[in-house]
Amino acid sequence: MSIKRIAIFGSTGSIGTQALEVIKSNPQLFSAEILTAQNNADLLIKQALEFNPNMVVIGDEKKYLFVKDALSKTNVKVFSGEDALSEAASVDCYDMMLAGIVGYAGLRPTLNAIELGKPIALANKETLVVAGDIVMQKAAAKKVPILPVDSEHSAIFQCLVGETKNKIEKIILTASGGPFLGKKPNFLVNVKREHALQHPNWSMGAKISIDSATLMNKGLEMIEAKWLFNLAPKQIGVVIHPQSIIHSMVQFEDGSMKAQMGLPDMKLPIQYAMAYPKRLANDFPRYNFNKPNVLNFEEPDLKTFRNLQLAMDALNKGGNLPCILNAANEIAVFAFLRNRIGFIDITDLVERTMNKIKFIEKPTLQEYFDTDAEARDFAASLIQM
Ligand code: NAD
Ligand code: MG
Repeated sequence: MSIKRIAIFGSTGSIGTQALEVIKSNPQLFSAEILTAQNNADLLIKQALEFNPNMVVIGDEKKYLFVKDALSKTNVKVFSGEDALSEAASVDCYDMMLAGIVGYAGLRPTLNAIELGKPIALANKETLVVAGDIVMQKAAAKKVPILPVDSEHSAIFQCLVGETKNKIEKIILTASGGPFLGKKPNFLVNVKREHALQHPNWSMGAKISIDSATLMNKGLEMIEAKWLFNLAPKQIGVVIHPQSIIHSMVQFEDGSMKAQMGLPDMKLPIQYAMAYPKRLANDFPRYNFNKPNVLNFEEPDLKTFRNLQLAMDALNKGGNLPCILNAANEIAVFAFLRNRIGFIDITDLVERTMNKIKFIEKPTLQEYFDTDAEARDFAASLIQM
């Protein structure tokens, strides 16, 4: 079998570094061909020296010479800037894109990879939240598989293997509930950045950690699931499962449910997407039934964690509303991480932006770009910067 050359977009992040661990453990199967980072030049250089890719891209142009200089004794090509980040995806030197950029910034590179006909291992859920209809249409037209990396969607994808002719009645996304499970609004008003970044089961990038604490992450995942699995909103349920052992479930027409289980470790869904349809042996720790374990399930508290309700509204209404929700949320989380707004204000900002920006039922790609820009501007104007 020939080596699959992977383009890792967002190689310095939580997903990117774990994807490189998978490559390192399976050198006979994978190589890293493109590595990209926004700011972390030191880590990008270290990765380039270790994995010897065809090219690297550093988003921050001020760091170009530093990276170029550090790699001058190698054959690694170095580029920088926002345009170079998406143009790199159009260079035909790789076999699969691992979309590990966080946020809206991942959309353009992913669209370029689809245009080039490259399979996508998709971690960057915001791409589907913003423009899922267009992304999936383009992927279908180019016969490009979109393989989920998000653990819940990987779970559903794994449950669907061998079920192509069977209808899905519904899917149930599991949610850990985040660090503030069981808390009420009077507690949430006072929570600080450091507290919100402490996820009980997963170690992840800052943005998704905050989204997990507000439950926005689960809302984004409902929208992601709609596009990945072609579901109606009413077919997508959420249940809180604090142990994160069941990663999600599919219920079929006969009422039978399939679940995918295991210890929480993102390397598993990453390697499943990269090696699909094969499973790769590994020595990751295994879940142990010998210990006295309990798995719990409860309904999400939509009154306290209103972000999830807002995301459900966006899911139900569709059009550019998920794009508006996402843009406002990115601005709000950014501001919260810089201690500019409080935890509860995140929801307020998202809601006000959703009420303000013009609704478009069937947006073009350009209208999605414009909606994102307008929503960001409006959300930012609500914060006293
Ligand atoms: P992270 O913050 O750890 O890493 C983000 C990566 O994207 C970094 O390499 C960074 O350099 C790059 N980046 C950031 N802003 C950029 C910009 N404007 N332009 C170009 N590159 C930029 O994030 P993460 O936790 O690895 O998450 C990445 C994506 O995967 C997110 O969409 C997240 O929702 C999704 N995801 C992550 C996890 C997880 O366990 N971390 C699980 C499921 C899904
Ligand atoms: Mg997830």
